[in-house]
Amino acid sequence: MPLFDGPIQDLVDELGRLPGVGPKSAQRIAFHLLKVSTEDALRLAKAIIEVKERTVLCEICFNVAMAARCSICSDDRRDLSKVCVVEDPRDIVAVERTREFQGRYHVLGGALNPIEGVGPEQLRVRELLTRIDAEGITEVILCTNPNLEGDTTAMYLARLLKPLGLSVTRIASGLPVGGDLEYADELTLGRALEGRREVDA
Ligand SMILES: [Zn+2]
Repeated sequence: MPLFDGPIQDLVDELGRLPGVGPKSAQRIAFHLLKVSTEDALRLAKAIIEVKERTVLCEICFNVAMAARCSICSDDRRDLSKVCVVEDPRDIVAVERTREFQGRYHVLGGALNPIEGVGPEQLRVRELLTRIDAEGITEVILCTNPNLEGDTTAMYLARLLKPLGLSVTRIASGLPVGGDLEYADELTLGRALEGRREVDA
């Protein structure tokens, strides 16, 4: 049953759908927005519209981009022979912060999770295989999250890619197990990248 009138309830409902925002927080944010200047509130509304209208996925790596190619794929100083496979565009930011990697990326769009119905078909695995052929990639670094799904995905990809004669490496342990790449500090992630090892598949 709605607690508030019309637009306020709509806003509370929408905010409550956001990740990590419970009903209490949704109410608090809605009433905060009601109180701030129209200018401030519209700036938020505009930022949401802009991100939806102007952001696309990079045609090469599926990172978020403002044009057909993301800033990394359009940078010709990047080493095209290396590709770092990540689950999510946010992980690219984490790896870039380490300054340890000069190659390009490939965003899978998640990790294998049979229980939730995520198989290879739901991830951009086919797109990765196409790139390996087309771009002359010789090393694939598996940078999926250090948790069950991430490890399963890395093993699956290693078995698929090893027979192609590529170097397939996995970031070294030392990252907090069960954690997300995006929360790892750059020093730890940098060391994990530097200490990457060939996967036996
Ligand atoms: Zn890209």
